[in-house]
This record gives sequence, structure tokens and C-alpha cells, in this order.
Amino acid sequence: MITAEREQAVVAGVWTQLSIGGTWRDARGERTFPVEDPSTRQVLAEVADAGPEDGLDAVAAAAGAQDGWAAHPPRERGEILRRAFETIAERTEDLALLMTLEMGKPLAESRAEIAYAAEFFRWFSEEAVRVAGHFAVAPDGRGRLLTMRQPVGPCLLITPWNFPMAMATRKIGPAVAAGCTMILKPASQTPLSALALAQILEECGLPPGVLNLLTTSSPGAVTEPILSDGRVRKLSFTGSTVVGRTLIAQSAEQVLRVSMELGGNAPFIVFEDADLDAAVEAALLAKMRNIGEACTAANRFHVARPLAGEFSGRLAERLGGMRLGRGTEDGVQVGPLIDASAVEKVSGLVRDALDRGAKAIVGAEAGPGPGYFYRPTVLADVPPGSRVLREEIFGPVAPVASFGSEEEAIAAANDTEFGLVAYVFPRDLQRALRVVEGLRTGMVGLNQGFVSNPAAPFGGVKQSGFGREGGREGIEEYLDVKYVAVNL
Ligand code: NAP
Repeated sequence: MITAEREQAVVAGVWTQLSIGGTWRDARGERTFPVEDPSTRQVLAEVADAGPEDGLDAVAAAAGAQDGWAAHPPRERGEILRRAFETIAERTEDLALLMTLEMGKPLAESRAEIAYAAEFFRWFSEEAVRVAGHFAVAPDGRGRLLTMRQPVGPCLLITPWNFPMAMATRKIGPAVAAGCTMILKPASQTPLSALALAQILEECGLPPGVLNLLTTSSPGAVTEPILSDGRVRKLSFTGSTVVGRTLIAQSAEQVLRVSMELGGNAPFIVFEDADLDAAVEAALLAKMRNIGEACTAANRFHVARPLAGEFSGRLAERLGGMRLGRGTEDGVQVGPLIDASAVEKVSGLVRDALDRGAKAIVGAEAGPGPGYFYRPTVLADVPPGSRVLREEIFGPVAPVASFGSEEEAIAAANDTEFGLVAYVFPRDLQRALRVVEGLRTGMVGLNQGFVSNPAAPFGGVKQSGFGREGGREGIEEYLDVKYVAVNL
């Protein structure tokens, strides 16, 4: 049982100002904006509301710190990350509670995110000392070819509200390891986790100006001047495809290095020979992790026709039994959505499917107020063309459609402008490989409903973006290759 006093103490421990050049200070004009608990709609805290001039102060701090940071020994950069990994792990309970308060997910899921977030620091603490070049004899035998990897320079990092800490560490970890300075702009609905993270990095010895943090309620007005200032050399963005497109266009002016982790519409395909128990278990995870508010969430279920009825029924039984409520309460498995417009969007998608002839087996209604709740929902016999199959749901709704042949399943899975992840459940190995090769996505969960792993390259194709975070590939996004033609 979490008391109100404990909740208040955790929020009160967060520094709510801007962090620029190693100094915590108010936004110019002392503007602030409120952060709300989506399960109660109560204001948790007021945080500094940066404007364009604060943004340019952050650029100056990041640019000023860049050369010194690039020259900092890689081992020491790695050790700062390692200390931060350990500190986050020690403070899991406080950080998880803070995240649940501002974002809504149940405490167990917040703890899991804290562990996942910290792992990016451990992974990149190990990568910091493995940035290498290459030396080769030129094919004609006369010259030598030398390559080296160097930090790209100051970066703008923009993160979403759904994973308030992991989306930040997935960018900060490789940037620190590579020797880049940063400006982090977290989502306005969940800035507290990012503020707590910046405090921890400072405590763990990150030098002034390496990480600058801007909270703001006017993201475009703050980030556009940053992107058009020639001193920033890279943008890494995680968020919606619609905002990503705008930022790609804005990055063109200064020809920035760009990484984009955008929206998804993951198909979850269950073949006739699948292990149905395992598929239902994985479906639960792939659909309900983070209240369905994950870019990797299974957005639509394509099930072999003979199994579709049983699969829908079993999934409905499991989803219908999940406990909805405030994420701080014991036993709660489904928290609120992030805001009123999220509830409206999910309700609209469900209504459209029902109007077209889908059947609701469970749920299909908003939950009790005052929070932004929506009940776990399973829709069966969802006809092709329904909006819920095409659009990113970002909520606890599982639409099930059926298919006849393997070709039909692959075609349905690929029938989207997105290409982040797909989940596939076959038993036959040849079919598994055929289907995996045919899917146009950056990631595939093969007989499992979860792909995120700091040691693996996370990212999408098509309108889900480009670039990879995590794995060996993650640090490359923050490094430029320099080639030296050596005349002996
Ligand atoms: P969003 O509206 O695109 O916002 C993401 C971030 O961009 C927030 O910090 C937001 O600030 C900022 N932003 C909004 N408009 C901006 C502008 N004009 N210029 C600069 N920054 C701007 O997305 P969201 O609703 O927070 O997140 C959900 C989306 O993220 C989903 O589509 C999901 O699939 C995607 N996502 C993708 C991945 C991945 O790895 N592929 C991971 C997680 C989430 P404010 O908060 O102030 O609006």
C-alpha cells in the first residue's frame, strides 16, 4: 500500500527546473506548466516551461562542452554510465513510483521499465571502450587505408511519454559512450522521470554541459531553432510518424544526422500449427504491456481460420479478467490511458469496427472516471478495411481477423505503411523462415511476444523510421566515420 505522503515525497524529490550547462535554473520569465496524474487528473507538480531562448542557451552549453567531452577517456565515460546503471537499480522503487504517478502504468510494469532503462547504461558502458577504426593495405599495395570513428557532435534527443525513462537512456547511453553532448527534450506529459534521470547522471559525475535538459509545453517553438542552429549535428527522435516527418524536414536545412523511431502497427500472426497456449500467453504480453501504449504493441491479430474462434475466446477470457485501476494499487494490471484524447481515439476505432460488423467479446467501453480508463477489449471477426486494423490503436484493444493461406497472412501483415515489428507463431521451421523473410519490418518476434532487449538493434523500416537503438548498432548512430588516405 503506497501512502499519499510517500507519493508526495517522491515527487518533491525531483528538481523541476531546466538543467543547462550544469546549472539548474528557472525558464526565462519563470514560466511553468503542470504535470498530471492520468489516473486521478490531479496535478502532481509544476515544471519549468522552456522557451526558444532557453533552447538556444542549451545549444550554447552543449556546443561549449563538446570538444572536452569528446577528448574525455572512453573508460571514464563508460564508468559514469556504469555508476548511473547501479544508482538507477538502487533507486528502482522511488523511480518506479514516480513513473507510475506521471504515466499511469502499474508499478510492476514501471519497475520492469526501470530495469530495462538501466540496462542501456550498462550495455553502453561496455561499448564505450570498443569504438574502433580500421587499417588496411590498399588493393594496389601502395597506399594504406585508415578509418576512425569520431563523435557526431551535439545532439538533440526528443522522447515520448509512453516509456519515460527507457526512451531517454536508449539515446543518452550511446551518446555518452560515443562522446557526444546532448539536449534532451522529454514529453511534456511525463517530464519527471527524465528530470530524475538527469539528477542521477549529474550525481554520477557527468560533466556540466554534457546533458542539458529542457522541459517545455511548446515543443515545436523550442526545437525548431535548435535544429536550424548549425552547432547541433544530430537529431534522435522517438514519437509519432506525423511529428517525425516534420522533424525530418526541419533537419534537412542543416543536413543533420537523423535517427527516427516512429509509430507501429504490429501484426500478430497465429498459424494453424501454432502452440495455442504459448500464442495466447504471448498475445497477452504483446497486447497489454504498457496498457497497449507501446510502439511494439500487437495492433492486430491474424489467426488461421480454424483457430480464430478459440483464440479470440481464450484471449477475451484473459483480458476480461484483468484488473483495471490506479497503477499504485496492489493487484492492478491495467492503468489509465495517457489523456482524454487517447480514450476518444480508442473509442472511435472500436465504434468503427463494430459499425462494420465486428463483434465485441469483452470490453468495448471506457472505464470509470475520473481517470482516463478504457476496458480491455477483444473484437472478433473484424472485417478488412476497419480503421482498427490500419491505425495505431495505442490502447488495450485486440482486434482479431482470420486468414486462409500463408500468402494471405503475409500480405495482410505487410498491408500497412508501418514496419516496426511483427509477431509470428508457427511450429514448422521452414514456414517460420519463409514468413520471417517475407515480413517487411525491422524486427520479428518468432514464437514470442516481446522483442525489446538493450543488446539487440531496435528499430523499424518504412514509415516506422530508420536507425537502430541498442545492440552493437546503437552507438554507430552517434559516430561519424573518417577515412584517411595514407601515402607511405
Ligand atoms: P509525439 O506526439 O510525436 O511526441 C513525441 C515527442 O515529440 C514529445 O516529446 C513531444 O512533445 C514532441 N513533439 C511533439 N510535437 C513536436 C514538434 N512539432 N516539434 C518537436 N517536438 C515535438 O508522440 P507521443 O504521442 O508522445 O508518443 C507516441 C508515439 O511514439 C506513437 O506513435 C509510438 O508508436 C511512438 N513510439 C515509437 C517508439 C519506437 O521506438 N519506434 C517507441 C515509443 C513510442 P510534447 O510531449 O510536448 O507533445
